[in-house]
Amino acid sequence: MKFVADMHTHTIACTHAYSTITENAKAASERGLSYIALTDHSVKMPDSPHEWHFCNMRVIPDFLYGVRIIKGIEANLIDYEGRLDINEYIYGNVEFIVASMHGDCMPYGTEEQITSAYLGVLDNPKVFVLGHTDSPDFPFDVEAVTKACKEKNVAIEFNVSRFRSNRSIQRLKHLILPTCAKNGCSIIVDSDAHFHDKVGAFEQAEALLNEISFPEELVLNADLKRFEDFISSKGLKTNSGLTAE
Ligand SMILES: [Zn+2]
Ligand SMILES: [Zn+2]
Repeated sequence: MKFVADMHTHTIACTHAYSTITENAKAASERGLSYIALTDHSVKMPDSPHEWHFCNMRVIPDFLYGVRIIKGIEANLIDYEGRLDINEYIYGNVEFIVASMHGDCMPYGTEEQITSAYLGVLDNPKVFVLGHTDSPDFPFDVEAVTKACKEKNVAIEFNVSRFRSNRSIQRLKHLILPTCAKNGCSIIVDSDAHFHDKVGAFEQAEALLNEISFPEELVLNADLKRFEDFISSKGLKTNSGLTAE
């Protein structure tokens, strides 16, 4: 697989991450990526930047080291209806949302409640990805959510940072990824990097995908055309679309 994008990265704007946008972009360029998304935590997380951070991202260039910088956010699901912790100003100023559940922001719940939250957020047009759905703390109906993701053109994330948790990786390997494959639901492999050396470091994920014979055509960021078709379908300009302006 030739990965072209890393759509979940953190910077020093979150206090528990340690690299700058520039360092992440340089690392992405060295890995041969064409796109990265900046996805620092939205405002309900204890380490998040002030909302102004997300409202002023237009000052960041579209390209650094030849890598497209997509101005995004990792927004928190906060209830069982699938609402996010972003107001209209943040929403209007970000290009891209990874929607995630974190214990600090989302109440724990039954499988039915967590499923309802995921299904509820899929209609948000800026939500491209459901982040790290592998957490055993937030069980959901994987069959129903992967089917709905396919229908609503939202990807399930294979979050590489979860290799630190064997339980998460086992859930991915034996439940989430096989169900995505069965239902034709696309995935995106993301680093969730908190330091620039992890940006685009997808070797472990690729090995696991190969091990379970995961269909490559469902890995959105493993092919430039496939990835660009996806972001265009969600209303984002591709690199060539942007430079042609
Ligand atoms: Zn997260
Ligand atoms: Zn993250």
